[in-house]
Amino acid sequence: MDYRTAEARSALMARIRSKNTGPERMIRRTVYRMGYRFRLHSPRLPGRPDLVFPSARKAIFVHGCFWHLHGCPTGRLPKSRLEFWGPKLEANTARDRRNQEGLATLGWSVLVVWQCEVRSPEKLTRKLEQFLGGGPSCCDQHGREAMRRRTSHAPK
Ligand SMILES: [Zn+2]
Repeated sequence: MDYRTAEARSALMARIRSKNTGPERMIRRTVYRMGYRFRLHSPRLPGRPDLVFPSARKAIFVHGCFWHLHGCPTGRLPKSRLEFWGPKLEANTARDRRNQEGLATLGWSVLVVWQCEVRSPEKLTRKLEQFLGGGPSCCDQHGREAMRRRTSHAPK
């Protein structure tokens, strides 16, 4: 057996696992269909965002709910082996925060798309459109509320 082949294959598999996860592929497809063009994993930006829109200075992270502690049913600290998972997952979220702050400092807008959001394609598309179409770059609910507030307080 050629060990190099096996080695190359496992390296390839590792790359596929880390970079072409199902949710990320789905989001890339959705964004592409919406007519936006992007780059992938720009290594020069904090956290290597998954999708990068250089001219608009916008970046999207696709986060697994478990690994980034989303707070949805999948993204809570596990009850078993908490002493192992707790510090690991909390370090992940601390790093996420640092990366997002770093990007903001460089003048980038950041959107986080969660793995669980892929399950409702319509909501996901709205969220992406709101972010990429120049609307409020916050998460959808707050964004819409802020927009309504702004509109209702607009001078007559
Ligand atoms: Zn989630």
